[in-house]
Amino acid sequence: MAKSVLRFRVTADQSVCVGAGLCVLSTSEVFDQRDEDGVVKVLQDYPDETLYEKAMGAVRKCPSKAIRVEQLPDDRIEPVDGR
Ligand code: SF4
Repeated sequence: MAKSVLRFRVTADQSVCVGAGLCVLSTSEVFDQRDEDGVVKVLQDYPDETLYEKAMGAVRKCPSKAIRVEQLPDDRIEPVDGR
């Protein structure tokens, strides 16, 4: 039987981000901030499953609730757009 893999998608609403940077401090593999104003940038839309707990920690810490982590079934994985 095939091993089940946790797939998830990370999105961030730049219109509500206040640039606090807590997401970057907790999960620098997935988040960065724009140089000009500190607004969040998502580095990995579909991170490896080993980063799930850290990404969820960023969701909890974000003061503006800008970050969303959505679990996906395996068959909904879409190509990453190269960002
Ligand atoms: S923790 Fe939230 S408010 Fe702070 S930079 Fe990250 S997304 Fe923006």
